[in-house]
Amino acid sequence: MSGHPWVFGNELGDSEGTCEPGDIVELYSSNGSFIGKGYINPASQIRIRLLTRIKSENIDAAFFHKRIKEAWEYRRHIGYVENCRLIFGEGDMMPALIIDKFNDYFVIQTLALGIERWKDAIVAAIKDIFNPKGIYERNDVPVRELEGMVQQKGFLSEPFDTNIIINENGLKFHVDIENGQKTGYFLDQQDNRRAIQHIAKGADVLEAFCYTGTFSLHAAHYGAKSVLGLDISESAVATARNNAILNGYEDICKFEAMNAFDALRQWGKEGKKYDVVMLDPPAFTKTRENIDKAVTGYKEINLRGMKLTKPGGFLVTASCTNLVSPELFLDTIRMAAKDAHRTLRQVCWQTQASDHPILWNVPATQYLKFLIIQVM
Ligand code: SAH
Repeated sequence: MSGHPWVFGNELGDSEGTCEPGDIVELYSSNGSFIGKGYINPASQIRIRLLTRIKSENIDAAFFHKRIKEAWEYRRHIGYVENCRLIFGEGDMMPALIIDKFNDYFVIQTLALGIERWKDAIVAAIKDIFNPKGIYERNDVPVRELEGMVQQKGFLSEPFDTNIIINENGLKFHVDIENGQKTGYFLDQQDNRRAIQHIAKGADVLEAFCYTGTFSLHAAHYGAKSVLGLDISESAVATARNNAILNGYEDICKFEAMNAFDALRQWGKEGKKYDVVMLDPPAFTKTRENIDKAVTGYKEINLRGMKLTKPGGFLVTASCTNLVSPELFLDTIRMAAKDAHRTLRQVCWQTQASDHPILWNVPATQYLKFLIIQVM
Protein backbone atom coordinates (compact mmCIF):
# COMPACT_ATOMS: atom_id res chain seq x y z
CA MET A 1 0.00 0.00 0.00
CA SER A 2 1.56 3.30 -0.99
CA GLY A 3 0.32 6.73 0.05
CA HIS A 4 -1.24 7.70 3.35
CA PRO A 5 -4.46 5.92 4.39
CA TRP A 6 -6.15 9.08 5.72
CA VAL A 7 -8.27 11.46 3.66
CA PHE A 8 -9.27 14.79 5.19
CA GLY A 9 -12.60 16.48 4.53
CA ASN A 10 -11.04 19.38 2.61
CA GLU A 11 -9.35 16.96 0.19
CA LEU A 12 -12.63 15.50 -1.02
CA GLY A 13 -14.54 16.55 -4.14
CA ASP A 14 -17.83 15.18 -5.47
CA SER A 15 -19.58 12.17 -4.05
CA GLU A 16 -22.08 9.73 -5.51
CA GLY A 17 -24.86 8.04 -3.57
CA THR A 18 -25.54 8.34 0.12
CA CYS A 19 -23.87 6.87 3.16
CA GLU A 20 -24.23 6.68 6.91
CA PRO A 21 -21.39 7.61 9.28
CA GLY A 22 -19.11 4.59 9.60
CA ASP A 23 -20.05 3.06 6.22
CA ILE A 24 -17.52 1.59 3.84
CA VAL A 25 -17.06 3.83 0.80
CA GLU A 26 -14.95 3.74 -2.35
CA LEU A 27 -12.49 6.52 -3.12
CA TYR A 28 -11.58 7.66 -6.63
CA SER A 29 -9.10 10.25 -7.86
CA SER A 30 -10.34 13.28 -9.82
CA ASN A 31 -9.51 11.48 -13.07
CA GLY A 32 -11.74 8.58 -12.04
CA SER A 33 -9.15 5.97 -11.09
CA PHE A 34 -9.81 3.77 -8.07
CA ILE A 35 -7.75 4.66 -4.96
CA GLY A 36 -9.15 2.42 -2.25
CA LYS A 37 -11.93 1.48 0.11
CA GLY A 38 -12.32 2.59 3.66
CA TYR A 39 -14.72 3.84 6.24
CA ILE A 40 -16.18 7.33 6.38
CA ASN A 41 -17.16 9.58 9.26
CA PRO A 42 -18.45 13.08 8.42
CA ALA A 43 -18.15 13.98 12.13
CA SER A 44 -14.39 13.45 12.06
CA GLN A 45 -11.71 15.66 10.53
CA ILE A 46 -10.19 12.48 9.17
CA ARG A 47 -13.12 11.85 6.84
CA ILE A 48 -12.05 8.55 5.30
CA ARG A 49 -9.53 5.94 6.48
CA LEU A 50 -8.57 3.39 3.88
CA LEU A 51 -8.59 -0.32 4.64
CA THR A 52 -7.61 -1.62 1.22
CA ARG A 53 -6.32 -0.49 -2.17
CA ILE A 54 -7.68 -3.59 -3.89
CA LYS A 55 -10.97 -2.99 -5.63
CA SER A 56 -12.09 -6.63 -5.61
CA GLU A 57 -11.50 -6.99 -1.87
CA ASN A 58 -14.79 -6.91 0.03
CA ILE A 59 -14.82 -5.38 3.49
CA ASP A 60 -16.71 -7.98 5.47
CA ALA A 61 -16.20 -10.31 8.44
CA ALA A 62 -13.94 -12.56 6.33
CA PHE A 63 -11.73 -9.55 5.52
CA PHE A 64 -11.10 -8.86 9.22
CA HIS A 65 -10.49 -12.55 9.90
CA LYS A 66 -7.89 -12.67 7.13
CA ARG A 67 -6.17 -9.47 8.23
CA ILE A 68 -5.92 -10.57 11.87
CA LYS A 69 -4.58 -13.97 10.83
CA GLU A 70 -1.99 -12.32 8.59
CA ALA A 71 -0.96 -9.96 11.39
CA TRP A 72 -0.50 -12.93 13.72
CA GLU A 73 1.58 -14.80 11.14
CA TYR A 74 3.74 -11.71 10.73
CA ARG A 75 4.28 -11.40 14.50
CA ARG A 76 5.27 -15.04 14.76
CA HIS A 77 7.61 -14.70 11.79
CA ILE A 78 9.52 -11.85 13.43
CA GLY A 79 9.62 -13.54 16.83
CA TYR A 80 6.70 -12.18 18.88
CA VAL A 81 4.61 -15.03 20.14
CA GLU A 82 3.46 -14.92 23.76
CA ASN A 83 2.76 -11.21 24.14
CA CYS A 84 2.53 -8.81 21.26
CA ARG A 85 0.70 -5.92 19.79
CA LEU A 86 -1.29 -8.04 17.37
CA ILE A 87 -2.81 -5.12 15.49
CA PHE A 88 -1.09 -1.73 15.47
CA GLY A 89 -3.70 0.38 13.65
CA GLU A 90 -2.28 2.05 10.57
CA GLY A 91 0.88 -0.06 10.90
CA ASP A 92 -1.25 -3.08 10.05
CA MET A 93 -3.45 -1.24 7.54
CA MET A 94 -6.27 -1.39 10.09
CA PRO A 95 -6.72 2.27 10.99
CA ALA A 96 -7.82 3.03 14.55
CA LEU A 97 -7.75 -0.61 15.67
CA ILE A 98 -5.46 -1.74 18.47
CA ILE A 99 -5.28 -5.32 19.71
CA ASP A 100 -2.80 -6.36 22.39
CA LYS A 101 -2.24 -10.05 23.00
CA PHE A 102 -1.18 -10.98 26.51
CA ASN A 103 -0.69 -14.70 26.09
CA ASP A 104 -4.28 -16.05 26.13
CA TYR A 105 -5.89 -12.68 26.84
CA PHE A 106 -6.71 -9.94 24.35
CA VAL A 107 -7.33 -6.24 24.85
CA ILE A 108 -9.02 -4.26 22.09
CA GLN A 109 -9.42 -0.58 21.27
CA THR A 110 -11.69 0.57 18.45
CA LEU A 111 -10.94 4.28 18.20
CA ALA A 112 -12.97 5.31 15.15
CA LEU A 113 -16.64 4.81 14.34
CA GLY A 114 -15.93 2.91 11.14
CA ILE A 115 -13.88 0.28 12.94
CA GLU A 116 -16.21 0.14 15.96
CA ARG A 117 -18.89 -1.11 13.55
CA TRP A 118 -16.79 -4.23 12.93
CA LYS A 119 -16.10 -5.00 16.58
CA ASP A 120 -18.26 -8.14 16.59
CA ALA A 121 -16.48 -9.49 13.51
CA ILE A 122 -13.08 -8.70 15.06
CA VAL A 123 -14.01 -10.45 18.32
CA ALA A 124 -15.33 -13.47 16.38
CA ALA A 125 -12.07 -13.66 14.43
CA ILE A 126 -9.97 -13.57 17.63
CA LYS A 127 -12.11 -16.32 19.12
CA ASP A 128 -11.75 -18.44 16.01
CA ILE A 129 -7.99 -17.96 15.55
CA PHE A 130 -6.81 -18.04 19.17
CA ASN A 131 -9.49 -19.73 21.30
CA PRO A 132 -8.64 -17.10 23.95
CA LYS A 133 -9.29 -17.19 27.70
CA GLY A 134 -10.64 -13.66 27.59
CA ILE A 135 -11.19 -10.55 25.50
CA TYR A 136 -11.56 -7.08 27.02
CA GLU A 137 -12.42 -3.69 25.54
CA ARG A 138 -10.40 -0.66 26.70
CA ASN A 139 -12.27 2.01 24.84
CA ASP A 140 -11.99 4.46 27.74
CA VAL A 141 -10.03 6.76 25.45
CA PRO A 142 -10.99 10.44 24.89
CA VAL A 143 -10.18 10.34 21.16
CA ARG A 144 -13.38 8.32 20.66
CA GLU A 145 -15.36 11.46 21.42
CA LEU A 146 -13.90 13.18 18.34
CA GLU A 147 -15.60 10.39 16.40
CA GLY A 148 -18.94 10.95 18.14
CA MET A 149 -18.59 7.85 20.31
CA VAL A 150 -18.73 7.36 24.06
CA GLN A 151 -15.88 6.04 26.17
CA GLN A 152 -16.46 2.55 27.50
CA LYS A 153 -14.74 -0.55 28.80
CA GLY A 154 -15.80 -4.09 29.59
CA PHE A 155 -15.79 -7.75 28.62
CA LEU A 156 -16.16 -8.86 25.02
CA SER A 157 -16.02 -12.51 26.11
CA GLU A 158 -17.25 -14.35 29.16
CA PRO A 159 -16.06 -12.40 32.24
CA PHE A 160 -12.63 -13.42 33.56
CA ASP A 161 -10.15 -12.31 36.23
CA THR A 162 -8.61 -9.22 34.65
CA ASN A 163 -5.53 -9.34 36.89
CA ILE A 164 -3.20 -11.53 34.90
CA ILE A 165 0.52 -12.35 34.94
CA ILE A 166 2.64 -12.25 31.81
CA ASN A 167 6.21 -13.41 31.10
CA GLU A 168 8.76 -11.12 29.49
CA ASN A 169 12.50 -11.61 29.09
CA GLY A 170 12.51 -14.23 31.86
CA LEU A 171 10.58 -12.06 34.32
CA LYS A 172 6.94 -12.06 35.40
CA PHE A 173 4.68 -9.04 35.50
CA HIS A 174 1.25 -8.36 36.92
CA VAL A 175 -1.00 -6.74 34.34
CA ASP A 176 -4.29 -5.14 35.30
CA ILE A 177 -6.27 -5.31 32.09
CA GLU A 178 -9.27 -3.47 33.51
CA ASN A 179 -7.64 -0.58 35.37
CA GLY A 180 -4.03 -0.38 34.16
CA GLN A 181 -2.89 2.46 31.90
CA LYS A 182 -3.82 2.20 28.20
CA THR A 183 -4.29 -1.53 27.55
CA GLY A 184 -2.66 -2.39 30.89
CA TYR A 185 0.95 -2.88 29.81
CA PHE A 186 3.48 -1.12 27.55
CA LEU A 187 4.51 -3.78 25.07
CA ASP A 188 6.28 -1.21 22.89
CA GLN A 189 9.27 -1.19 25.28
CA GLN A 190 9.66 -4.97 25.50
CA ASP A 191 12.87 -5.06 23.42
CA ASN A 192 14.25 -1.83 24.88
CA ARG A 193 14.03 -3.30 28.37
CA ARG A 194 16.59 -5.88 27.29
CA ALA A 195 18.88 -3.12 26.05
CA ILE A 196 19.86 -2.19 29.63
CA GLN A 197 21.34 -5.64 30.28
CA HIS A 198 25.03 -4.68 30.41
CA ILE A 199 24.84 -1.22 31.92
CA ALA A 200 22.67 -2.37 34.84
CA LYS A 201 25.21 -4.80 36.25
CA GLY A 202 26.39 -3.73 39.71
CA ALA A 203 24.70 -0.33 39.31
CA ASP A 204 22.73 1.93 41.61
CA VAL A 205 19.74 2.76 39.44
CA LEU A 206 17.07 5.47 39.50
CA GLU A 207 14.01 5.07 37.31
CA ALA A 208 11.56 7.96 36.98
CA PHE A 209 8.10 7.41 35.45
CA CYS A 210 8.41 3.69 36.22
CA TYR A 211 4.72 2.67 35.93
CA THR A 212 4.63 -0.97 37.15
CA GLY A 213 8.41 -1.13 37.46
CA THR A 214 9.20 -3.06 34.32
CA PHE A 215 12.56 -1.39 33.57
CA SER A 216 13.46 -1.45 37.27
CA LEU A 217 12.82 -5.18 37.49
CA HIS A 218 14.91 -5.75 34.39
CA ALA A 219 17.73 -3.76 35.98
CA ALA A 220 17.60 -6.00 39.07
CA HIS A 221 17.42 -9.09 36.86
CA TYR A 222 20.56 -7.95 35.04
CA GLY A 223 22.47 -7.50 38.29
CA ALA A 224 21.80 -3.97 39.60
CA LYS A 225 22.88 -3.37 43.19
CA SER A 226 19.94 -1.12 44.06
CA VAL A 227 16.98 0.26 42.14
CA LEU A 228 14.61 3.08 43.05
CA GLY A 229 11.51 3.53 40.88
CA LEU A 230 9.27 6.61 41.02
CA ASP A 231 5.79 7.11 39.64
CA ILE A 232 3.05 9.58 40.42
CA SER A 233 0.40 6.86 40.36
CA GLU A 234 -0.10 5.08 43.71
CA SER A 235 -1.66 2.08 42.03
CA ALA A 236 1.22 1.77 39.55
CA VAL A 237 3.68 1.85 42.46
CA ALA A 238 1.64 -0.78 44.34
CA THR A 239 1.80 -3.04 41.28
CA ALA A 240 5.53 -2.32 40.90
CA ARG A 241 6.09 -3.48 44.49
CA ASN A 242 4.08 -6.62 43.77
CA ASN A 243 6.16 -7.20 40.65
CA ALA A 244 9.33 -6.98 42.74
CA ILE A 245 7.93 -9.59 45.14
CA LEU A 246 6.72 -11.78 42.27
CA ASN A 247 10.29 -11.96 40.94
CA GLY A 248 12.08 -12.12 44.29
CA TYR A 249 13.74 -8.71 43.93
CA GLU A 250 11.97 -6.89 46.76
CA ASP A 251 15.28 -6.30 48.57
CA ILE A 252 16.83 -4.62 45.52
CA CYS A 253 13.89 -2.75 43.99
CA LYS A 254 12.12 -0.05 45.98
CA PHE A 255 9.28 2.07 44.64
CA GLU A 256 7.90 5.42 45.78
CA ALA A 257 4.80 7.32 44.66
CA MET A 258 5.95 10.85 43.90
CA ASN A 259 6.12 13.53 41.26
CA ALA A 260 9.25 12.74 39.26
CA PHE A 261 9.76 16.36 38.15
CA ASP A 262 10.01 17.43 41.79
CA ALA A 263 12.22 14.51 42.78
CA LEU A 264 14.65 15.02 39.90
CA ARG A 265 14.96 18.73 40.69
CA GLN A 266 15.29 18.30 44.44
CA TRP A 267 17.72 15.39 44.39
CA GLY A 268 19.87 17.11 41.78
CA LYS A 269 20.22 20.06 44.16
CA GLU A 270 21.11 17.70 46.98
CA GLY A 271 23.88 16.22 44.82
CA LYS A 272 22.56 12.65 44.72
CA LYS A 273 24.24 10.48 42.07
CA TYR A 274 23.36 7.22 40.34
CA ASP A 275 25.21 4.91 37.96
CA VAL A 276 22.13 4.63 35.76
CA VAL A 277 19.16 6.99 35.43
CA MET A 278 16.14 5.91 33.40
CA LEU A 279 13.35 8.20 32.15
CA ASP A 280 10.22 7.09 30.31
CA PRO A 281 7.63 9.84 30.77
CA PRO A 282 4.11 9.82 29.31
CA ALA A 283 3.41 11.67 26.04
CA PHE A 284 3.86 15.40 26.69
CA THR A 285 1.54 16.63 23.93
CA LYS A 286 -0.95 15.45 21.38
CA THR A 287 -1.25 18.80 19.56
CA ARG A 288 1.18 20.68 17.34
CA GLU A 289 0.60 23.92 19.28
CA ASN A 290 2.22 22.37 22.33
CA ILE A 291 5.34 20.84 20.74
CA ASP A 292 7.51 23.59 22.21
CA LYS A 293 6.17 22.85 25.68
CA ALA A 294 6.85 19.16 25.18
CA VAL A 295 10.43 19.92 24.12
CA THR A 296 10.87 22.09 27.21
CA GLY A 297 9.63 19.19 29.33
CA TYR A 298 12.03 16.73 27.71
CA LYS A 299 14.91 19.13 28.05
CA GLU A 300 14.19 19.68 31.72
CA ILE A 301 13.92 16.05 32.77
CA ASN A 302 16.92 14.99 30.71
CA LEU A 303 19.02 17.85 32.07
CA ARG A 304 18.05 16.83 35.59
CA GLY A 305 18.64 13.19 34.74
CA MET A 306 22.16 13.97 33.47
CA LYS A 307 22.97 15.91 36.64
CA LEU A 308 21.95 12.86 38.67
CA THR A 309 24.18 10.58 36.60
CA LYS A 310 27.72 9.93 37.87
CA PRO A 311 30.48 10.84 35.41
CA GLY A 312 30.76 7.82 33.13
CA GLY A 313 27.30 6.62 34.14
CA PHE A 314 24.39 6.04 31.79
CA LEU A 315 21.17 7.82 30.97
CA VAL A 316 18.37 5.71 29.52
CA THR A 317 15.77 8.03 28.05
CA ALA A 318 12.63 7.60 25.98
CA SER A 319 9.92 9.66 24.35
CA CYS A 320 6.57 8.36 23.13
CA THR A 321 5.29 11.75 21.94
CA ASN A 322 4.31 11.16 18.33
CA LEU A 323 4.79 14.80 17.31
CA VAL A 324 8.37 14.91 18.60
CA SER A 325 10.44 13.46 15.75
CA PRO A 326 13.55 11.37 16.40
CA GLU A 327 15.71 14.29 15.18
CA LEU A 328 13.96 16.76 17.48
CA PHE A 329 14.34 14.40 20.41
CA LEU A 330 18.07 14.01 19.81
CA ASP A 331 18.46 17.78 19.43
CA THR A 332 16.69 18.23 22.76
CA ILE A 333 19.03 15.78 24.47
CA ARG A 334 21.97 17.62 22.89
CA MET A 335 20.71 20.94 24.31
CA ALA A 336 20.28 19.37 27.74
CA ALA A 337 23.86 18.05 27.66
CA LYS A 338 25.15 21.48 26.71
CA ASP A 339 23.39 23.10 29.66
CA ALA A 340 24.52 20.32 31.99
CA HIS A 341 28.12 20.73 30.72
CA ARG A 342 28.32 17.01 30.00
CA THR A 343 29.68 15.07 27.03
CA LEU A 344 27.58 12.26 25.61
CA ARG A 345 28.53 8.96 24.06
CA GLN A 346 25.77 7.05 22.31
CA VAL A 347 25.31 3.42 23.35
CA CYS A 348 21.98 2.53 21.80
CA TRP A 349 19.38 4.36 19.71
CA GLN A 350 16.24 2.52 18.79
CA THR A 351 12.49 2.69 18.47
CA GLN A 352 9.44 0.66 19.45
CA ALA A 353 9.44 -3.15 19.34
CA SER A 354 8.81 -4.49 15.83
CA ASP A 355 5.40 -5.87 16.75
CA HIS A 356 4.41 -2.18 16.38
CA PRO A 357 5.27 -2.05 12.65
CA ILE A 358 6.56 1.16 11.13
CA LEU A 359 5.09 1.80 7.69
CA TRP A 360 7.26 4.11 5.65
CA ASN A 361 4.22 5.66 3.98
CA VAL A 362 2.71 6.51 7.40
CA PRO A 363 5.38 8.45 9.32
CA ALA A 364 3.30 8.63 12.51
CA THR A 365 3.62 4.85 12.91
CA GLN A 366 7.14 5.55 14.24
CA TYR A 367 6.51 7.20 17.57
CA LEU A 368 8.84 5.78 20.21
CA LYS A 369 12.35 7.11 20.67
CA PHE A 370 14.68 5.17 22.95
CA LEU A 371 18.22 6.24 23.70
CA ILE A 372 20.98 5.04 25.99
CA ILE A 373 23.91 7.42 26.39
CA GLN A 374 26.99 7.46 28.50
CA VAL A 375 27.15 10.79 30.32
CA MET A 376 30.75 11.87 30.77
N1 SAH B 1 8.39 2.69 31.52
C1 SAH B 1 7.04 2.21 31.77
C2 SAH B 1 5.98 3.10 31.16
C3 SAH B 1 5.93 4.49 31.70
S1 SAH B 1 4.46 5.31 31.22
C4 SAH B 1 6.92 0.82 31.18
O1 SAH B 1 7.70 0.49 30.30
O2 SAH B 1 6.03 0.08 31.61
C5 SAH B 1 4.64 6.84 32.02
C6 SAH B 1 4.39 6.83 33.52
O3 SAH B 1 4.64 8.14 34.01
C7 SAH B 1 2.99 6.48 33.94
O4 SAH B 1 3.04 5.36 34.79
C8 SAH B 1 2.49 7.70 34.73
O5 SAH B 1 1.75 7.36 35.88
C9 SAH B 1 3.78 8.34 35.13
N2 SAH B 1 3.75 9.79 35.38
C10 SAH B 1 3.06 10.76 34.74
N3 SAH B 1 3.36 11.97 35.25
C11 SAH B 1 4.26 11.77 36.25
C12 SAH B 1 4.96 12.62 37.15
N4 SAH B 1 4.80 13.93 37.12
N5 SAH B 1 5.83 12.04 38.03
C13 SAH B 1 6.00 10.71 38.05
N6 SAH B 1 5.37 9.87 37.23
C14 SAH B 1 4.51 10.38 36.33
